[in-house]
Amino acid sequence: LKFHDMGLDDRLQKAIAKLGWSKPTLIQERAIPLSLEGKDILARARTGSGKTAAFAIPVIQKILDSKQHAKEQSVKALVITPSKELCSQAYKNVIDLTSSCSREVKCVDISGQVALDAQRPLLMEKPDIVIGTPSRILAHIQAKNLYLKESLDMVVIDEADLVFSFGYEADIKTLLSHLPKIYQAFLMSATLSEDVRTLKKLVLHNPVILKL
Ligand code: AMP
Repeated sequence: LKFHDMGLDDRLQKAIAKLGWSKPTLIQERAIPLSLEGKDILARARTGSGKTAAFAIPVIQKILDSKQHAKEQSVKALVITPSKELCSQAYKNVIDLTSSCSREVKCVDISGQVALDAQRPLLMEKPDIVIGTPSRILAHIQAKNLYLKESLDMVVIDEADLVFSFGYEADIKTLLSHLPKIYQAFLMSATLSEDVRTLKKLVLHNPVILKL
């Protein structure tokens, strides 16, 4: 399977070509078509497998699709990772993949160690994609800088196996209570540990499980 067999938006294909990626990695080949069908995904995938683009490509595609209906601007996808470094890696991937549609698909990384108030203007612009650690996202929800209950369509938890061990169990559970009842979810994890099984029960609905 090639990228151009996946029915992706031309702008996304152009960005992928600019990156010089000739074909999808194994996880991308499996995860992208399933997620475009709307399936929830639990993927056991390591760093280096192309796992970030495996969720970022369908997220961007779905946002581009939703823009055709010209709804009002709102946060559509939340990407949660357990560290600032992982947030900035995910952000960089999204920026690369939206290089041909940067006006249509806006993304912010709120994991930086700056005051909440300083990040407020970024969130007031209603970016399409918000990337952050559980504690930062929750802090912005509680400060009413971020409201996700109505329009959020997709939730990604990257490196899910580290979320609890990095001390975010309580924060992520509270955060999840501020999300809508229905959304499409992706859990990316290097291992399928007990912690991941707990998160799976909390966020995934009939997921396809990819063990790569
Ligand atoms: P990740 O597993 O998401 O951390 O990705 C590992 C590296 O692979 C990153 O530097 C990506 O830019 C790169 N990458 C992701 N997908 C592809 C692809 N289909 N072809 C070539 N490189 C890729």
